[in-house]
Amino acid sequence: MIVCLIEYGMPFDKYNSFEKLSASERPGVDYEIHCVARPSQVAIIAPHGRQIEPGTAEIAAAIANDSYSFYCFNGLRHRPHGHLHITSSNFDEPQCLGLLSTCKIVVAIHGCRNLSVSSRNYVYLGGLNRSLKETIFDCLRDAGFDVRNYDDRFPGEHRSNICNRGLTGQGAQLEVSRGLREEFLNSSEKLSGFAKAVRTGIDDALRGPPVNR
Ligand SMILES: [Zn+2]
Repeated sequence: MIVCLIEYGMPFDKYNSFEKLSASERPGVDYEIHCVARPSQVAIIAPHGRQIEPGTAEIAAAIANDSYSFYCFNGLRHRPHGHLHITSSNFDEPQCLGLLSTCKIVVAIHGCRNLSVSSRNYVYLGGLNRSLKETIFDCLRDAGFDVRNYDDRFPGEHRSNICNRGLTGQGAQLEVSRGLREEFLNSSEKLSGFAKAVRTGIDDALRGPPVNR
């Protein structure tokens, strides 16, 4: 069964815009927003953090480190996934859009259930920025992670997908399995290795097309 519902979540989502969500939900009680703008062309975002897709905000913060801009929208109470999940193609929280409007590279972090029978720990790559996906893919693979390209269920290629709302209209999204997110919770070293590999992939993409890869 498909789970993160990035592309297909709307029928299950309680809200299809931030305006509707914020009319009913309470900041600081039901949700919180962290937006850290740094002098960088890169933003790492987690639009479904904490209780919505656990571990994703922590992964985004680790990748951003103190060099890239960082944004997360966190659910603060344990509730069904769709209650505070605004699907990526509808995600329009103004602080997030404002930040992305200044960034050349956007990478969104999501979480999915374990969909594969052969492995619990893997990450799917999606989004419209092909070269960025390739460099991140290579760096994660070289660091020993099970990284896969999205199949046709989860391409992240919708123009309005939040990962594609940066300056270039093309970003990337990482869909991290529950098993891998749990591993990160138990091993900060593993998370650091993952974050470093993604940063290397981003920096490679910023430098231009990969050579001899
Ligand atoms: Zn998500």
